[in-house]
Amino acid sequence: MFEIKTTDESIMQQYLKKHGNRNEFRYLFTFDKNYIFMVKENRSINTYYVICLMRNCMVAIAKSKQVYSDDIKKKLIEKFIATPAYQVTLPENPNAMIEFIFKKLMAASGFTIRENQIELSKMMYEGIKQNHIAICEAEVGTGKTYAYIVACVVYALYERQKRSKAGILTYLDNEYCSVPCVISTSSIDLQNAIVRTYVPILSDILLKNKVIDRPLSAVLRKGKEHYFCQMRYDRLTSYLKSSQKAVDRELLYKLSALKIPDYGIDLDEYKGLKNHIVQKINVPKACEISCPYYKECQYIKHMDYARSSIHDFQVCNHNYYLADTMKRAKGKHTLIPEHSVAIIDEAHKLPDAAMQIFGKRFSSEDITIMTNVLKSNLKGNKAYLQIAKMKLDSLSVLRTRFFRSLVSKINLDAVDDETSQIGIFIGHFEKMLLLEMLKIIENIQEYCAVDISKSRTLEIMFLEAKEQIETFFRTENIIYWLENPLSDKLVSICCIPTDLEDQLHKVLWKNGIPKILTSGTLSDDRGFTYFKSNAGIDKVNKNFISEMSCRSPFDYKNNALLYVSENVPFPDKQCNEYIEALADEIIRIVDAAYGHTVILFTSYSLLSRVYELARHRIKYPVLKMDKSEKNIVEAFKNSGNSVLFATGSFWEGVDCPGDILSSLIIVNLPFPTPTPILEHRKKQYAELKEFIEFIIFPEMLIKLKQGMGRLIRCETDTGLIAILDFRISKKGKYRKRVLGALSDYRVTDSLDEVKAFFRKVKRKEYFYQD
Ligand code: SF4
Repeated sequence: MFEIKTTDESIMQQYLKKHGNRNEFRYLFTFDKNYIFMVKENRSINTYYVICLMRNCMVAIAKSKQVYSDDIKKKLIEKFIATPAYQVTLPENPNAMIEFIFKKLMAASGFTIRENQIELSKMMYEGIKQNHIAICEAEVGTGKTYAYIVACVVYALYERQKRSKAGILTYLDNEYCSVPCVISTSSIDLQNAIVRTYVPILSDILLKNKVIDRPLSAVLRKGKEHYFCQMRYDRLTSYLKSSQKAVDRELLYKLSALKIPDYGIDLDEYKGLKNHIVQKINVPKACEISCPYYKECQYIKHMDYARSSIHDFQVCNHNYYLADTMKRAKGKHTLIPEHSVAIIDEAHKLPDAAMQIFGKRFSSEDITIMTNVLKSNLKGNKAYLQIAKMKLDSLSVLRTRFFRSLVSKINLDAVDDETSQIGIFIGHFEKMLLLEMLKIIENIQEYCAVDISKSRTLEIMFLEAKEQIETFFRTENIIYWLENPLSDKLVSICCIPTDLEDQLHKVLWKNGIPKILTSGTLSDDRGFTYFKSNAGIDKVNKNFISEMSCRSPFDYKNNALLYVSENVPFPDKQCNEYIEALADEIIRIVDAAYGHTVILFTSYSLLSRVYELARHRIKYPVLKMDKSEKNIVEAFKNSGNSVLFATGSFWEGVDCPGDILSSLIIVNLPFPTPTPILEHRKKQYAELKEFIEFIIFPEMLIKLKQGMGRLIRCETDTGLIAILDFRISKKGKYRKRVLGALSDYRVTDSLDEVKAFFRKVKRKEYFYQD
């Protein structure tokens, strides 16, 4: 104690000497390691000061005529803590700080202390500090979002302290300089929640408790196509004003009623704004310097603000984040400012996003849009306009012939809602058409050079169209397929490089920025092997990877029951007997659960057939998911005890806590449908068995676990999961492996047991809802 006092007293003297302070001060005590309390004594009055070592400043806090005593000491501390000069001193061990935040500060604000959340946060912090790729699976209920936000905040606090000590950053000079982190997620709902709820709540707690001295800042980043462009808006509205058509008048009225941009420039915030209108008033691919709004453009101001270094968190989706890393790797101007950490939440969706970003797409619509934009920009005499129009028309004709030729090669009868990607071969004839298209595009570029050069957007469109077409000349080292073959307008040809995982490794995993990958479901029954190979992480040196799996705190054994049906034959959606058996079994389960059921399909056509057979026999309100999926989920949540036939997005990301969803029927094991990408992967295995074991089965299991995760969303939720797939019945070949991976659940094949379960876990009111 004495030694510490002596050291601190000499620190005090050094500080005073350095700052030329010749007054006589008496050392009193040191508080929270960084604050030296001292007094300047005078015959009539004592003045109390504090030297703040971290901030390198001195503040006067009180004057008193009384002699210094323990009582005065207490008051001095209280008074000082209330000043802006005080900030909590970081403990030596950052893990202690993480515990302090969760166990003291957040708990005092009403958060439940969850030991596995704290462990997860520590592991995430360690991953950041060690510059690792940390795979942190966190099952539902763990609280992963706060775990990584706290880990990032703690990392930033210690990093700032380190930089400050090293003289790289001083608090006084760089008070608002953050240590930015990127948070990339798949869903916009989670991005909004992070920016609007998670970060502000934590920020308030930390500010109130003097852990931080300014609010945390999180900014949502998204592509320019989401933002409002005044110039394009003016153009559209002036056209609408001059039009005599009723439909244009109506649109003008609707647009005026929305009062854009009074509520901000983010077009996603204007509900009811149709997609085709957004495309007419959003920010173009490139702004013209000649734009009359350029100097005061709200979008440009927003981008300057979003890119500045004041934000602690840059929040975006996976596509945006990957686009940034690609630009970073190529040394181009980046979308996101320099950052020290990247959090990839909903990381199971990263490989899908990588396919879109590393892949190429040439759509029939691209040519339509490009030719329309050029047509509206053409200026010249009649002959010039006529010839230009002829050239554009012949480009459209070639485009149509190209896609029709590709579509003619496939069996359209075999295309259903499950086949999103159709393998296709680009033959000699189609290549000739591509070549013709390329020639005519170059010809148009030359002929309309003056008009094109007046618009950066048009220049970019022509460049991109050429690049897209050239991609499809190559047939080596790419996998390509057709999408939307039933629509002349939307049909597209797409491709990805066969070495996608290598490219991800080069661009993303090797860029030296520590990354935390998290999600409720990243592992299959054999760990992270499948996920790592799918995302290209298996190419990273093992010493730079850390892994953790955080189990859900929920009591599945008591609160949930897994019913595996023995009453449904092998899945065959062409077979009436199968569909009838499904409908019968669904009705039995719905009755046992008293409604409150979601029936989850992998195929919309199967959903429709079963729905038609079952809906009149169900005693509860019945809903069916269609394209306006969001509304139907809301309707289900508000309904009380209805039965929803669902597919698509309901497999993940939908949250229905409470009794509303008490029974989840999974009709089929969600095995992936055959795609050209899977066909390519299959070729890498000597035997089909291995391909199923290492690719198909893990993919199915991860999706199954995600689907099952919809049921129990909080500690008090209770309910049933029913799987109606013969392949995990007693005679099924996947029973052992699937049930082995779902060992948290009690399993039954008895509907009587299901009924008894509901009677045990639900309150009386559950059974008597209207
Ligand atoms: S500067 Fe760009 S975004 Fe802004 S009004 Fe002009 S064209 Fe639109």
